Amino acid sequence: MRITRTVAETRAALRGAENVGLVPTMGAYHAGHLSLFRAAREECETVVASLFVNPAQFGEDGDLARYPRDEAHDAGLAEEHGVDLLFAPAADELYPPGYETWVEVEEASRRLEGEHRPGHFRGVATICLKLFNIVRPRRAYFGQKDAQQVEVLRRMIRDLNLELELRVLPTVRDPDGLALSSRNALLTPEERRRALALPRALATKDPARAQTLLDGLDVDYIEVAPFDPPALVAAIRIGSTRLIDNVPLDQGDPQ
Ligand code: AMP
Repeated sequence: MRITRTVAETRAALRGAENVGLVPTMGAYHAGHLSLFRAAREECETVVASLFVNPAQFGEDGDLARYPRDEAHDAGLAEEHGVDLLFAPAADELYPPGYETWVEVEEASRRLEGEHRPGHFRGVATICLKLFNIVRPRRAYFGQKDAQQVEVLRRMIRDLNLELELRVLPTVRDPDGLALSSRNALLTPEERRRALALPRALATKDPARAQTLLDGLDVDYIEVAPFDPPALVAAIRIGSTRLIDNVPLDQGDPQ
């Protein structure tokens, strides 16, 4: 596996490559990321992962500083799971001094996560468009775990006529139901136990029952979102950690 740090190096390494799959990540790999690498490996000739903790999608609350980072460990896992090229730039490679261009996906970014994390999806859309332009993938791989992110990116791809396929892979969970997330590492054992109410509530696929199961917790939102497919989505705060999760709803589920 090759590791690149600059846009120029990455473009040179990929010159002439066809059928490229891109997995954008912020590192701290767990089985959710690995499932995306695996899918890309099966469907693409060249698999690129980006490893970049994107400052533009974080707020001012210290979340960026707390974000877990271990590049050497991540690089080992990426290589083991068939990644050909890991693009791991420094922040000023992608946001050099004077940077001032942003992508706003207006409506899809406003509600839910957008309401609680102002500017978050502007950062996500901008970094993804930059990565798509640098890597030129035929397919890009994302997790259902971040359902609103998928909606925002789908809208951007359509609105800006980008020529790539968005592939969405199911949420990978621990055996107790908690969706894998880099942020789970920040939970104490007691907080982790309380966090299990979130997957239990979502598993009902019923907003009213879910709400009841989350009683007593600090809930940012729990509701059915009109995504494709519709999903019961929720965000809660446990101590200083914020967790999001969702379940896609089928026809026949209460909506
Ligand atoms: P992140 O590194 O957190 O930005 O995540 C990179 C990609 O992995 C995103 O497309 C996420 O939606 C996806 N992802 C994160 N957690 C999971 C999970 N538990 N199952 C499946 N995909 C996930």
